Amino acid sequence: MSEYQGVLHRYSEMLHLPPGTRPITLLEGNTPLIPAPRLAEQLGGGFELYIKYEGLNPTGSFKDRGMTAAISAAVGEGARVVICASTGNTAASAAAYAARAGLRAVVLIPQGKVAAGKLAGAIAYGAQVLQVEGSFDDALQIVVEISQKHPICLVNSLNPYRIEGQKTAAFEICDRLGTAPEWLCLPVGNAGNITAYWAGFRQYDALRGTGLPHLLGVQAAGAAPLVLGHPVERPETVATAIRIGRPARGEQALQAAEESGGRIIAVTDEKILSMQRLLAATEGIWVEPASAAGLAGLAHEIATGRLRVRSQRVVAVCTGHGLKDPDIVIQWVSKPLSIPPRIDLLEEVLAL
Ligand SMILES: *Cc1c(COP(=O)(O)O)cnc(C)c1O
Repeated sequence: MSEYQGVLHRYSEMLHLPPGTRPITLLEGNTPLIPAPRLAEQLGGGFELYIKYEGLNPTGSFKDRGMTAAISAAVGEGARVVICASTGNTAASAAAYAARAGLRAVVLIPQGKVAAGKLAGAIAYGAQVLQVEGSFDDALQIVVEISQKHPICLVNSLNPYRIEGQKTAAFEICDRLGTAPEWLCLPVGNAGNITAYWAGFRQYDALRGTGLPHLLGVQAAGAAPLVLGHPVERPETVATAIRIGRPARGEQALQAAEESGGRIIAVTDEKILSMQRLLAATEGIWVEPASAAGLAGLAHEIATGRLRVRSQRVVAVCTGHGLKDPDIVIQWVSKPLSIPPRIDLLEEVLAL
């Protein structure tokens, strides 16, 4: 039977999951790798650019790849309750997969700093949502402690099965292109995803000789601990998904970037937001702000001559859907113009 059954099924022999894992899936993964020739032209041209559009996963972000693995392992191990700290997308994903598995889900979010579509998701899927008076990093610290003290399964990307599931995005890119691209650019927050991509590309290369990409990890300038070389106490950025000052997998991310012959850089919020607009306007792909960070970093490196991509293939990972954070876009314009339903007025407005 060739029907698609989700990432655990498709790549079962590649993933290290505990015996007894009981697959809980929403048919995540299998997301499109969309050519973006108009945007590539805007960035200088002469190379192939592809968008791995992870916003098309069931709950609107790549988090579903890791969550299907973490929740499936948790069910196999007899867990009844799962918990996570989240900037939003992990919360929505954990809530959805826990609902499907019949588990209780508890999610902790930093107060007032979570995009509307993500909070709505977590509530809709029936999780118990708690706001922490502090940052994501504060929330993560207490969920780690409580999961050590009580029989509650932690499903943050410290959970190794999250990384296992998230490797599947690298496998899909290699399956689609035949080999790894020369460069992969992506946003970096808690640094689980860049860690997972690198593990995935290395595993595929060892098995099938698909080669390795250079990694360009991109942080927001106001939340760039891996670029500064020290934790950031009060991270600030419009890209709330990467508003993290103490990345749990920071060391691994730095090591992955270095091993790949790539690097981790930071870009301003202004550059992130203008890339979000450019991508939507030139390619019809609307992503949340954090998801545009990888491309904003790529554009910056090309424009400053630090990156040469002539004749190469570049994949930009767009991690979450634009619908997650509608408020940002509504701020782009003042209210739409109102007109009475009259054709003469419409003609006037359209200058016809
Ligand atoms: C979680 C998330 C990130 C950051 O991924 P990390 O694994 O924390 O580095 C980036 N973009 C979006 C949309 C996310 O949800």
